[in-house]
Amino acid sequence: MRVFLCDDNEQYRLLARIVLEPIYEIVGEAGDGVEAIELAPELAPDVVLLDLNMPRLNGHEALPRLRELLPHARLLVLTSGQATDERERALAAGADGFILKPESVYALVGELAAALG
Ligand SMILES: [Mg+2]
Repeated sequence: MRVFLCDDNEQYRLLARIVLEPIYEIVGEAGDGVEAIELAPELAPDVVLLDLNMPRLNGHEALPRLRELLPHARLLVLTSGQATDERERALAAGADGFILKPESVYALVGELAAALG
């Protein structure tokens, strides 16, 4: 399973990589939506973990383009809250699901497995 990490928080990407790498193949990282769109075609991920709050181009704005570029990938949005309007907007833009950004990055393994299951 090829996973693409898109989040502007470099430390979160590093920690996510550490906990996910034993299970998934981390094929790349992006720090904003522009990078995510640029890298997506060559990385050909099965799963994209996409932060919504990013500079240059945020997750909401990147979603429709990622959906176009990666029609078969699972686009999973990283959220830190349960805001319903935010979720509905992301679903309408092409998201497949959500991962609650846990306080501890170790919970990410379980969150991702549940989202993929
Ligand atoms: Mg962010």
